[in-house]
Amino acid sequence: MNLLRSLLEANELSPPLAGDAGEALARAIGGAVEMHVYPRSITALEGVVFFLGRQGQTKWLGLLYQGVSADAARFHGEERGVELEQPLTLRLCPTDHANAVALRRTLPFTAPQVVGVHKAFGCGDRLGLATPGHVRAVRKALQQGSAQADVVPVFAQQSIREMARSGRTPEQVLDDATWGVFQEGWRAGFGADADHLKTTADVDVCVDAGYTMYTVDPGDHVDNEAVTAALDDLVRRVEALPWDVLESSPEELRSAYLGRTFDLGDGVVIRFSEETLLRAAAKYGRAVAHSTTMYRHLLGRMGDPVSGQSCELEVSVDETETPTTPEEHFFVASELRRLGVRCVSLAPRFVGRFEKGVDYIGDVKQFEKEFARHVAIARALGPYKLSVHSGSDKFSIYPIVARLAGDLVHLKTAGTSYLEALRALASIDPALFREILDFARERYPVDRATYHVSADPAKVPASDQLSDSELAGVLDTFDGRQVLHVTFGSVLTARDERGVYRFRERLLDALRADEEVYYAALELHLSRHLAPFVERRE
Ligand SMILES: [Zn+2]
Repeated sequence: MNLLRSLLEANELSPPLAGDAGEALARAIGGAVEMHVYPRSITALEGVVFFLGRQGQTKWLGLLYQGVSADAARFHGEERGVELEQPLTLRLCPTDHANAVALRRTLPFTAPQVVGVHKAFGCGDRLGLATPGHVRAVRKALQQGSAQADVVPVFAQQSIREMARSGRTPEQVLDDATWGVFQEGWRAGFGADADHLKTTADVDVCVDAGYTMYTVDPGDHVDNEAVTAALDDLVRRVEALPWDVLESSPEELRSAYLGRTFDLGDGVVIRFSEETLLRAAAKYGRAVAHSTTMYRHLLGRMGDPVSGQSCELEVSVDETETPTTPEEHFFVASELRRLGVRCVSLAPRFVGRFEKGVDYIGDVKQFEKEFARHVAIARALGPYKLSVHSGSDKFSIYPIVARLAGDLVHLKTAGTSYLEALRALASIDPALFREILDFARERYPVDRATYHVSADPAKVPASDQLSDSELAGVLDTFDGRQVLHVTFGSVLTARDERGVYRFRERLLDALRADEEVYYAALELHLSRHLAPFVERRE
């Protein structure tokens, strides 16, 4: 209780509470306010003690202070008196958007920040319940890694497409990350990635929500036919590029690249033949123009990301049909640079297959060779990070990526955390897992269309062929993972004939009711992803 008294008297932000003392205080506060209090959430600032509590399945932001507090009045909620060896005021506030905004303003560690050119790990959370588990995974990896190891988590990361599929808004995604960070007392900072933005309207909604990282996806403007087009056809395609936006001309393009040798060091040399150049320009010219338009729109909304440090940009072409060759990567990066587009990361479409939820498919040696050249380009033309999308479960290439890229990597994961939710569900509520499994097997042929996957649903057993203890095993098979992975949107939005969600609320309720099971699964699985990136090296 002396601890509470000193917290109430502290002017500056209190340091995180040590294990036992924090737990004892959480129990004492919890007893007085009649709820479970998360020990790591307890934070004091200028006479107010903040905590996250839980009553049944509802989480509350609690504020404790003596008498009245102008700072506490920024949060909307109900006030009452409580006795904690002294009379205190308790303000109990719903964990809604308005209070999340107020919390980000008051406790800056709950607000996302610009990551910069540091190793980053994206933790997409399609259900909005995963951040505490993500925090634990990062903590665990950093504890087990080398003392110098550093990786900045990106706890809010969702594409506009996945938000639509999961029925969530950019605000909700960011708010859920804020509450998760607060619950676990993560003070070391995190990013918020508005992923796969395709239009300026996409940018606008994410700026309004307060994201710090903007991943522009000009994939719809990539001309995949240029990869096989004949030379005279390429000439026509290049002539037809939007040269006004590109602030250049076919002649200037030729003189900038042809006959020159770009020596990037480490034995990496880039040269363009006329054909390679025309192919690169035809394939990516419109994508460069669109990225430039998106970037300038973002600048108009946010101020200069370089000097202002209020936001950062990624350009991502990972979801296109054909791999980005090192020459094409070089072309895109140097054109963006010429146009003043500064990016913190770039996502080429790497060689091989990055299918959802499963390991890398392809020639690992070839990947290594090409990845080394991509790193050299990112170093020479930035430095910026190489962003690896669909990065979950690619265990066979992590050591290569970690060794070659060093700090210049941003690994993005998302669906794997949904799969871990289903793993938790298999033990919390096997009957519901069975329903979802059978629904997913049915939906897969339709839902697979927009994903890079190759599973055969016939290889996934129907639920009546499995005992309860065998259910989670589906998540350890290639076909089971993909079938369950790509159907998440249908699972979350399916409604019955009365318009009631078929699975959504029951799934969320089960995970909320037994949240430690989900957190433990995430901690285990995601810390394995991180391990190669924080390893001790000689
Ligand atoms: Zn992606």
